Amino acid sequence: MAKLSLIVPCFNEEEALPIFYKEVKAVLKTMEPLEYELVFIDDGSKDGTSRLLKELATKDKGCRYVIFSRNFGKEAAMYAGLRESSGDYCVILDADLQHPPALLPAMYKAVTEEGYDCCGGKRLGREGDGFLRSLFSKAFYRIGKGLTHLEMQDGYGDFRLMKRSMVDAILQMGEYNRYMKGIFSFVGFDTKWLPYDNAERICGDSKWNFKSLLNYAIEGILSFSTAPLKFSGVAALLLFAAGALLLAVNLVQCALVPMAYTGYEVILTVVLFLSGLQMAVLYIMGAYLSKDYMENKGRPLYIIKEKR
Ligand code: UDP
Ligand code: MG
Repeated sequence: MAKLSLIVPCFNEEEALPIFYKEVKAVLKTMEPLEYELVFIDDGSKDGTSRLLKELATKDKGCRYVIFSRNFGKEAAMYAGLRESSGDYCVILDADLQHPPALLPAMYKAVTEEGYDCCGGKRLGREGDGFLRSLFSKAFYRIGKGLTHLEMQDGYGDFRLMKRSMVDAILQMGEYNRYMKGIFSFVGFDTKWLPYDNAERICGDSKWNFKSLLNYAIEGILSFSTAPLKFSGVAALLLFAAGALLLAVNLVQCALVPMAYTGYEVILTVVLFLSGLQMAVLYIMGAYLSKDYMENKGRPLYIIKEKR
């Protein structure tokens, strides 16, 4: 009999967890006699999440937990969950019911009967996300896709049910700077998409703010593309062409009307523009260097305090 591992990253989800547990169990009941395990990752919660998870694990043999020593982020929690899971199939689910468990039977069918390696949920719409977040997300996916040439699109998230072969491929990617959407895309495999309506989280607040989302977006591009590094080359070419043109114009002007052309303002603008550009190039190089620096340290992605 095949086994399904449900991986649930939790960060301060005390309120959502009981509701999530009830709903998931109801769906799993309809999938009997399927064997399953619920692997909860407590990503350094400050509320009663770990106490609740321990209670669940004593009550329900199908529940396991991994408690991190501090908050390591959802990327690390997902990686730990996949690593700790033992199922032939794994699915990653958010604890706030934004990933509808009702989709599980159809997802399971896609990988067991329809020949797919993976079945993901495709979120329709972004209600409840706020105007700015939607706008930046859309812009990011457009830029990200162009720079990385990977299939990353708005709506295609971490809610995916995968065969063990795909999970193993993901686990092989042990990089420190993790960007799961890019990793999913990088490993490939045949994926079916099931659309679902966007829902607001059942309770509590999203753990994301503008700064963390921006960092996550930069992470996505730095992890899977080196195109920005080539930017300095393109800029250098353009500047060289502009410089040559300006020089020619200046020479002609000086020849026609000697001493008439001083152009302090122009020089100032050019200097400002150039130093700005140099700073930008330095930032890009520094960004890659810092990622490489962290990668080279070979630090663990997460530290487990307790598990069962
Ligand atoms: N999460 C986590 N570690 C974090 C932040 C979030 O494990 O540092 C979990 C969180 O408990 C939830 C899921 O990741 O189960 C998605 O988080 P959230 O709902 O805050 O993100 P959003 O749905 O707004 O993208
Ligand atoms: Mg959420």
